[in-house]
Amino acid sequence: LPRVLIIGRPNVGKSALFNRLIRRREALVYNTPEDHVTRDIREGLAKLGDLRFRVLDSAGLEAQACSGTILHRTASITANVLHNSHLALFITDARAGLHPLDLEVAKWLRRHAPQIKPIVAMNKSESLFDSDGSLASAANELYRLGFGDPIAISAETGLGMPDLYHCLRPLLHQHMLRLLNDLDDGDHDNSCIGDGSTPEIEESKLPLQLAIVGRPNVGKSTLLNTLLQEDRVLVGPEAGLTRDSIRTEFEFQGRTIYLVDTAGWLHRTKQEKGAASLSIMQSRKSLLRAHIIALVLDAEEIVNARRSMTHAEVVIARRAVEEGRGLVVIVNKMDLLRGKDKTSSYEKVMEAVLQEIQTVIPQITGIPVVFISALEGRGRTAVLNRVIDTYEKWCSRLPTARLNRWLQKVMSRHSWKDQAAQPKIKYFTQVKARPPTFVAFVRGKTQLSDTDIRFLTKSLKEDFDLGGIPIRIMQRSVG
Ligand code: GDP
Repeated sequence: LPRVLIIGRPNVGKSALFNRLIRRREALVYNTPEDHVTRDIREGLAKLGDLRFRVLDSAGLEAQACSGTILHRTASITANVLHNSHLALFITDARAGLHPLDLEVAKWLRRHAPQIKPIVAMNKSESLFDSDGSLASAANELYRLGFGDPIAISAETGLGMPDLYHCLRPLLHQHMLRLLNDLDDGDHDNSCIGDGSTPEIEESKLPLQLAIVGRPNVGKSTLLNTLLQEDRVLVGPEAGLTRDSIRTEFEFQGRTIYLVDTAGWLHRTKQEKGAASLSIMQSRKSLLRAHIIALVLDAEEIVNARRSMTHAEVVIARRAVEEGRGLVVIVNKMDLLRGKDKTSSYEKVMEAVLQEIQTVIPQITGIPVVFISALEGRGRTAVLNRVIDTYEKWCSRLPTARLNRWLQKVMSRHSWKDQAAQPKIKYFTQVKARPPTFVAFVRGKTQLSDTDIRFLTKSLKEDFDLGGIPIRIMQRSVG
């Protein structure tokens, strides 16, 4: 298996990430910078979605600052391990921004393993996710490390694991192929430890991965039948018996769609199904693997309840968006609202759901909501069209020249109250798709404020029809 070394200055959360990846909790994670408790190098079998690799937790490095100390000795051990590793995860602390010791670690890495370009991950970023500005400025500083786009993660909460998965997946995949084919051409490190451009080329060939999530009995299995267009999956109380009859791949308009993690809810027993809450664990797993999350709600429950989404549903919807997945909301059982006297309920539900989504995820306008009756087999085309539409937006790439022409126009048509506050963006480019991620090169030391980022995001969505999906804007300073 490929070996992935976790590296970084002390106290950035290397062990917490290690523990999350190996899914055990016995390793100590201390918060005081004085406690360099992770002196040993530990190795474990990591699981991240369907990825399996060996992960190594390096000792806290203080590079030259601690020569002659125990840490110096561990640094040389780390150097040995690094030589035997295929990839490196360079962990920093998002709240601290770029620390001088991060630069030392980067220097050390370049000296000891110039062929490795690590994946930079800003840990502890959970508290910064609400503010695009602080996350962007933390990321901005990390470009100085010279290792490309950082990803934002939280080893404690698990936030950002899908991004880590999608960064690691193609790199590990290439390593596995090389190991299998014994194709070491001596030049592979440059190509496999890339700058983030390789994954998109590979992934665009992959089929759309769709996860259907929702509380028990909202009609996920029934919807699955509708999507597969055949009654191969038993629904209702016996749903636990259908293990052998599930097909999780189908075609729609020439496109292959994989349904991920359906087994999680299809195979649960009746008793488990009775539990009223949507399994957040199940949904987390889906978030990791899916490109698009279809969150199913029950129209009848919405009529009966005061809120259109339960807390768990709100958590999942928000989380999908935070994790950069595409979200499609499906309101099922609309047939139960049919009938003259219920017309108002029908409209009430539509209005309530649309309003609620806007309230709970205000940062994204136009999240698609589809109203269906899975039982009557209605809504298949509507659901799949919205899923594919969302996926295509999520994969879109805008040429730099077009973006910069757009930037000029958008900046000139907007008037800033305080002219001095107008951001001076020299250049704007898309660095990544899935979800679309942009970098604004800002002149001098001026930072884009949260308001600037919201303005740019809104304009991008309106002008390039990117509504309904999460998009990210980061910034870099240029002279
Ligand atoms: P799951 O737990 O989310 O997979 O839910 P199921 O698909 O097993 O459905 C639970 C119950 O709701 C079953 O009795 C279904 O027949 C029923 N159901 C599912 N979709 C609809 C629908 O569109 N309309 C109505 N009236 N009932 C539905």
